[in-house]
Amino acid sequence: MKPLEIHMFPCLSDNYGYLIHDAEHDLTATIDTPSAGAILAALETTGWRLTHIFNTHHHPDHAGGNLELKEQTGCEIVGPRADAARIPGIDRQYGDGETFQFGGHAVHVYDTPGHTTGHIVYHLPDDSVAFVGDTLFSLGCGRLFEGTPAQMWDSLQKLMRWPDDTLLYCAHEYTQANARFALSVEPNNPELVARSMQVDGLRAKDEPTVPTTLALEKATNPFLRPASAEIQEAVGSNGEDLVEVFARTRALKDNF
Ligand code: ZN
Ligand code: FE
Repeated sequence: MKPLEIHMFPCLSDNYGYLIHDAEHDLTATIDTPSAGAILAALETTGWRLTHIFNTHHHPDHAGGNLELKEQTGCEIVGPRADAARIPGIDRQYGDGETFQFGGHAVHVYDTPGHTTGHIVYHLPDDSVAFVGDTLFSLGCGRLFEGTPAQMWDSLQKLMRWPDDTLLYCAHEYTQANARFALSVEPNNPELVARSMQVDGLRAKDEPTVPTTLALEKATNPFLRPASAEIQEAVGSNGEDLVEVFARTRALKDNF
């Protein structure tokens, strides 16, 4: 099996667009559709023919280009069963624990409610990559627009069970702002301090901080670290209930 090819490009103000390509089967999927124009331009650059859209959730910066791309390319739209009514043009629906084939590549779907009720993520275990939408960001996590802290913590724990070397492709470049908050609740985490400096260096050169790895996020992302004594102290919780620590961390970030 040839390795999956991934083409990444900036979209809108702070989204990332992703095309994934299975050369053997001539299949190309876009992860979400932040901008039909930017995705069509990326298809032009790569010379790939769009066959699929994999949606993570219904927000306009993720599904807004669905209908235009479907009309222009005839591609098939894959998305969350739990939110099918809000995914424009959806053809195939998947939910928690279901898998499908993208050419030679297995794709595992997980429900990750929290940011929205119907959010899903796509894990390609043989390729050690995952597309996590607005569930997890480097040093952050999605805002809880529709879900509870308990739901989001449960969703994040699903991701934490993947292998540590999994490359995580999140949908936004929010890392530098996330780092400032992370340092405010865990200033003595040496790996976080090092990551923050690395992020500043990358952003100064206008380079992406994405993808990240699960290992790095487990070591530095405050939303995956409610067991950290330093974070517990910063948010004013004794840590008996990790959901409560997570909820307080999320609330602090909302007002940071
Ligand atoms: Zn969103
Ligand atoms: Fe988004």
